[in-house]
Amino acid sequence: MPTILVTGGNGYIGSHTVISLFNSGYDVVIADNLANSKMEVQNRLKQITGREFKFYNVDCCDEAALDKVFGENRIDSVIHFAGLKAVGESVRMPLEYYSNNIGSMITVLKCMEKHGVKNLVFSSSATVYGMSEDVPFTEASPLGTCTNPYGWTKWMIEQILRDYAVAHPDMRICLLRYFNPVGAHESGLIGEDPKGIPNNLFPYISKVAGGTLECLTVFGDDYDTPDGTCLRDYIHVCDLADGHVKAIEYLAKADEPVSVFNLGTGKGTSVKEAVAAFEKACGHPINHVFGARRPGDIAVCYASTEKAERVLGFKAKYGIDEMCSSCWKWQTMNPEGLKD
Ligand code: NAD
Ligand code: UDP
Repeated sequence: MPTILVTGGNGYIGSHTVISLFNSGYDVVIADNLANSKMEVQNRLKQITGREFKFYNVDCCDEAALDKVFGENRIDSVIHFAGLKAVGESVRMPLEYYSNNIGSMITVLKCMEKHGVKNLVFSSSATVYGMSEDVPFTEASPLGTCTNPYGWTKWMIEQILRDYAVAHPDMRICLLRYFNPVGAHESGLIGEDPKGIPNNLFPYISKVAGGTLECLTVFGDDYDTPDGTCLRDYIHVCDLADGHVKAIEYLAKADEPVSVFNLGTGKGTSVKEAVAAFEKACGHPINHVFGARRPGDIAVCYASTEKAERVLGFKAKYGIDEMCSSCWKWQTMNPEGLKD
């Protein structure tokens, strides 16, 4: 079976994708420097799959170390998740974000080139559509102006990959633009495990529901949306993970060097609706107040899923209720997150 190198495979989306790849019969090699994840994830993956995956604790910016990974394994394709992703932190530490995210991508490409690996899936984001609210976003929607260095790294890496593919037309590259990944594996053994106080909605709601945090502030209820709160396209992380398997399968037959796909559900859910769905999942009210808008937020953001469905054969299976119940299971089984 083909072997997939999963960089950042110890992280939130990467670990769920490792399971999807394993379930589809792929061999997996993981490269992760544990910058934002804990080694315990590997034990959990073993509990879920019964398999121990080959794990390299390497920084993907370290060319010699990464070259060794390619040298020791016959890699057929790479899924590049490794990267830093905290929007606020990227504003405070732009150089770390540019050097880690862009540096790791370039290093991965150099190693792929040296070892003759042609297939790459890259974790991009809906953030590349910028501040436009011309929803639904299609893959042909114009790329926008990002509001933070994190977003710009995705935007720039997409451009780097398009430029690289011009020089290397035998490459097969898939840019996957994720909308809002949430939820956890049905086992409750792996899930999103942010350090410190979460910035994103679902991890924050989970902690309020679990009693670790007092109260959720809903950022703005005066938007031009049906209930005044922002709409986002939340996608279950297990659906997202399956989307990567579809992308890997597609690359084997793709006839264009670069293909772009949105991965979302095509449905906008408001913050109020998300809170109500979580209350249903956990069985008690979630303490929340309405506060000011968060700078940089747009009112609405959801995907056109038409291309992913038609070309990749990808369609999300889960709705907001499954996203909330899996999140709640993960939270109750791991109230303090994973141990180091
Ligand atoms: P995550 O932080 O949970 O996982 C990223 C993993 O990469 C971590 O395990 C971290 O230790 C590792 N890593 C970081 N820099 C590295 C480096 N230089 N070398 C080796 N390993 C490194 O994040 P995630 O939510 O799983 O996101 C995965 C990818 O998807 C990221 O590129 C992220 O930007 C992108 N993405 C995430 C979201 C989201 O909402 N979670 C949305 C759009 C795109
Ligand atoms: N949000 C909120 N309170 C929070 C965190 C987020 O009201 O504590 C809102 C945020 O304004 C946005 C939505 O929840 O409308 C999703 O935010 P998140 O940070 O999870 O994802 P993003 O929209 O930045 O992709």
